[in-house]
Amino acid sequence: MSYDAAAVALGDAASIVITTHINPDGDGIGSGLALLLALAKPGKRVRFLCPSTVASLYGFLPRFAELRPILDEAQAAAEDPCDVMISCDAGDLQRLGAVTKVRHGRLINLDHHVTNTRFGHINLVDEAAESSGVVVEKLLRRLGVPLDRAIAECLYTTIVFDTGRFMHSNTTAHTFRWTAELLETGIDASEINRRLTYTKSPKDLAIVKLALEHLAIDDDPRLAGIVLTAAAIAAVGEPEDWGDLVEIPRSLAGNRVAYLMREAKDGKSVRVSLRSNPPIEVGAVAQAFGGGGHAYAAGCTVVKPLAEAVAEVRARLRKQLA
Ligand code: AMP
Ligand code: MN
Ligand code: MN
Repeated sequence: MSYDAAAVALGDAASIVITTHINPDGDGIGSGLALLLALAKPGKRVRFLCPSTVASLYGFLPRFAELRPILDEAQAAAEDPCDVMISCDAGDLQRLGAVTKVRHGRLINLDHHVTNTRFGHINLVDEAAESSGVVVEKLLRRLGVPLDRAIAECLYTTIVFDTGRFMHSNTTAHTFRWTAELLETGIDASEINRRLTYTKSPKDLAIVKLALEHLAIDDDPRLAGIVLTAAAIAAVGEPEDWGDLVEIPRSLAGNRVAYLMREAKDGKSVRVSLRSNPPIEVGAVAQAFGGGGHAYAAGCTVVKPLAEAVAEVRARLRKQLA
């Protein structure tokens, strides 16, 4: 049983590093902070290290101030080693960036992506889990840590984020039962929803405007998306958090596959976000370009000039639609 192995490894460890994927989101941050709260015990040193800077919108979560970015190998090398590293919500080792260079003993891979490569010594990968937070909660049971309000606030953030506020196809009867248990700890769900949703700066809204201006509806609304050049992004200014712009093309009536493609500053690569509605899957498309994710929500970085990347990804998506 991996859960038992993970509980033993975490129980025995004097020093633990928690981490999540680059450009961390509500699931990765919420999962990691829930673990940070649960594992804190006298005599144990627990750190939460992130491979990128973290969007300040998550600042309302308990112990958020303890999150530290590790942006390069020099920073990683300067960190004290740890007995156990636990990764939350990352499908493969590359997603952990420079944090993997922090010297560590056993690596626990806690995740729910279908494309997870089982890169840990211990793998807690539950593809049926709506969020990594659901996997965290199972582990907390093995550790004998009861849910409290602070932990529930973090876990609630994971489920709201990864189900798209209970809208995506991963939302099930279990989701609502599980969420009800979180609410029973006394959390203010409505306040958390507001903190996660109504937090846009004027610059964030300028990016939404830019995205709307670049909305491309192909031959029919089944395939729609947004392509942003580095120059267009620079003119507005890079937002702190890219949010869910890919929901704009997805919101078109009749849309089946939606994409957002953003050219990197140096023009050498393109960051791609893909969304689809069942039964059409985009996970395999992201994987074909070296990325991954879930069946209906996936992403990748294509190391090619913008025009080439857009043409190739769109050709693949059209094939997927056919
Ligand atoms: P995004 O479009 O960035 O919101 O990502 C959608 C889903 O795909 C999330 O679950 C991500 O964790 C996953 N994902 C995004 N990019 C990658 C990548 N390069 N490799 C693996 N998984 C990814
Ligand atoms: Mn994530
Ligand atoms: Mn997730």
